Amino acid sequence: MPDATAQLTGTPVVSGIAYGPVIWPGARPEFVPSSVELVDAERAREVDRFSAAAADVAAKLRARASASTGVAAEVLSATAGLAEDRGWLSAAGKLINSGSPAADAAVAATKQFADLFTKLGGLMAERVTDLNDVRDRVLAVLLGSPEPGVPVPDSPSVLFADDLAPADTAGLDPTLVIALVTRLGGPTSHTAIIARQLGIPCIVAVDDLASVATGTPVLIDGTDGTIDVEPPPDAARAAAATWQKEADLVAAWAGPGRTADGLDIAVLANVADGPSARAASSKPVAGIGLFRTELAFLDRATAPTVDEQAASYREVFDAFGDRKVVIRTLDAGSDKPMKFVTSPQEANPALGVRGNRIATAQPELRETQLDAIAAAAAGSGADVWVMAPMIATVAEAAEFAARARERGLTAGVMIEVPAAALLASAILAEVDFVSIGTNDLTQYTMAADRMSAELATLTDPWQPAVLSLVSTVAAAGRAVGKPVGVCGEAAADPLLACVLVGMGVTSLSSAPVAAAAVGARLGQVTMASCEAAARAALATTDPASARAAAAQALAG
Ligand code: PEP
Ligand code: MG
Repeated sequence: MPDATAQLTGTPVVSGIAYGPVIWPGARPEFVPSSVELVDAERAREVDRFSAAAADVAAKLRARASASTGVAAEVLSATAGLAEDRGWLSAAGKLINSGSPAADAAVAATKQFADLFTKLGGLMAERVTDLNDVRDRVLAVLLGSPEPGVPVPDSPSVLFADDLAPADTAGLDPTLVIALVTRLGGPTSHTAIIARQLGIPCIVAVDDLASVATGTPVLIDGTDGTIDVEPPPDAARAAAATWQKEADLVAAWAGPGRTADGLDIAVLANVADGPSARAASSKPVAGIGLFRTELAFLDRATAPTVDEQAASYREVFDAFGDRKVVIRTLDAGSDKPMKFVTSPQEANPALGVRGNRIATAQPELRETQLDAIAAAAAGSGADVWVMAPMIATVAEAAEFAARARERGLTAGVMIEVPAAALLASAILAEVDFVSIGTNDLTQYTMAADRMSAELATLTDPWQPAVLSLVSTVAAAGRAVGKPVGVCGEAAADPLLACVLVGMGVTSLSSAPVAAAAVGARLGQVTMASCEAAARAALATTDPASARAAAAQALAG
């Protein structure tokens, strides 16, 4: 990132880097409250004038909705709905009938609803901007002012605003408006939704935005949430161009996972149930690397039957045709308590009876689940592998593999506990494959709760101690030619993915949305450079140095 003369920061909501001059939306209509009270004879005509203005605004928004597609169309229709809302229209009508001029009534009626939405909080509170936008549009009609909104720039520009209403943002041309930055708004505001749909970087909740005037060149980093004001132009242009090149490669990536020199690496998806599997199947992934079976049954008071489970698993297998699906037996306990699994009172559930350990006290749970998995696999074309979570010893791995193989299933275990990573060779002798759960492996290696925001620097999978354990497991797999996957969120980080591959990891599975970025990055690097990146990262003693060393090794 180039040196900047000044930097503002906000909440990053859509990643990406853009460089261009600032534009601000046109002024909202000036409203001056009136001291006039309408006489009786004027009131009916004023109600008509107000209703016609609201109808005009709704019709214009509906017309723009039908000229748009996707989220933009939905957002515009929803805003048109606000202009047609009976509650709002009748609140304004009542005010006019008690003497308020139409403009005053529009402002007061909107305030009533905005206060209510604000009190309700959350998503409702974020709709206040939309209400105010409808009010301003109606005011503009009533006062004869120009329609408020975003000017169409003549060169690619960065749109700054206090907040953006859907009618401002829907229909924006992403080749001309290349980033959005607002003073207000949250990650679920319409600004964020539209920016995601347009695929342009977006930052919200930026203080001091008003200090940046129209025309000022800015560099937006939607990953970090930073806005560099008047940065050195050449470096800023280069940063934006590099990002664009990367984004084009990611957008174009259609699989399969393969390094630039032709080594196949399976890029897979993590799923929770049939709907998430069907959604993932449209991404360019080679299959499922982690099907978290507990997530579909978290609310159940009683254990699902074999048939119920088989039907649920079959939905996931069928979504992937003949591709690979790695299904995991229940990982109940700790952060995923399940009502039908008896959990002892534990002072420290993350270190307690969770995952595969439950099979000791309640063996029937795992038996019925393996029966259901085998039944679902038998009727499906998918290449089904099964693995157990939270394995700590070689004996546990051997016992699980025996239960799975009795049913003709390919058997593996997760490596999430440092003890299992250290004995990976012995564990691999007992199973067909292993999959490293870096989320828990990091938690247990660093003795840091994965849910704690305060400990985020410790629960970083780039911690060299974690990398060292992953490398031990990958080397053990390489030595015997058995697959070693990574299915924690570490597999979603394109740079770390290269390091993992360099260590000998054979598949990477994470949230499906991450697949294209990981796959595109792998396609640009050779196995030799991944190995160099792995060696470089392993030689460091802190996460920042590990990242920097890996990036440098890949670039060189
Ligand atoms: C992990 O621990 O990395 C993992 C993939 O399992 P979960 O996140 O479900 O605990
Ligand atoms: Mg885990």
